[in-house]
Amino acid sequence: MAIALVTGASRGIGKATALQLAREGYTVAVNYHHNIKAATDVINQIIEAGGKAFAVRADISDEAQVLAMYDSIDREGETLTALVNNAGILFEQSTIENLSAERINRVLATNVTGYFLCCREAVKRMSFKHGGKGGAIVNVSSAASRLGAPGEYVDYAASKGAVDSLTTGLSLEVAAQGIRVNCVRPGLIYTDIHASGGEPGRVDRVKSMLPMQRGGQPEEVAQAIVWLLSEKASYVTGSFIELAGGK
Ligand code: NAP
Repeated sequence: MAIALVTGASRGIGKATALQLAREGYTVAVNYHHNIKAATDVINQIIEAGGKAFAVRADISDEAQVLAMYDSIDREGETLTALVNNAGILFEQSTIENLSAERINRVLATNVTGYFLCCREAVKRMSFKHGGKGGAIVNVSSAASRLGAPGEYVDYAASKGAVDSLTTGLSLEVAAQGIRVNCVRPGLIYTDIHASGGEPGRVDRVKSMLPMQRGGQPEEVAQAIVWLLSEKASYVTGSFIELAGGK
């Protein structure tokens, strides 16, 4: 079978996606940054359910670590046909006037440079031009790219705007190379990321402002990602799915 690399697969949306992809028959490369226990739990869950998975530790903002991660995937002996660019970060809620250059650069390094690097290495392995058999990439952006996240994290929102542009540009570059590139834009999803922003209960505070009046579950985002990667989406590229409860 084929390998699917999911970045940031130890927790949240990445974890839910890894579990669903394993059920679809992929061997899942579970990328994580620090939390080896969470990554090991995901792998154990997959193996206990009869699936296949292995861990690949890498900070996606570090080019050498991304290269080493792909090298270790190559050594597994199966073909990489799917990439879910999911690992993302944000920091404490803040207005722009209080943002430091260091913080902005850290957000962009992970959420933008990291996505580019993972796409680049996937394309080298998947594209017909490089002798590959094709594949599919899903970038996890955010509704924040449309809404701007004022007063919270415009740096993060801007990084997701870049992910949207990356999706459009790359999808056009590789459409004739057997690679489909699509994007999901989640809204308020129950994961740990809100604690990074300094407000673990953020989803419940603001959910009444959503047309659907509830937060989303990571599994609801994962279902869309898995569909975009599948043959059921074989004529879909350069597309964006909003998973934001109607906002
Ligand atoms: P999360 O629960 O905070 O999990 C983040 C994951 O990313 C963890 O697996 C973490 O690994 C990994 N990670 C962080 N920095 C990394 C790095 N430099 N290199 C490799 N892995 C790294 O986040 P989430 O809410 O599931 O978010 C997943 C994606 O969805 C992000 O791109 C986020 O922007 C997007 N999103 C989320 C929401 C939401 O409401 N939750 C809404 C819109 C978009 P460790 O466990 O090792 O730390």
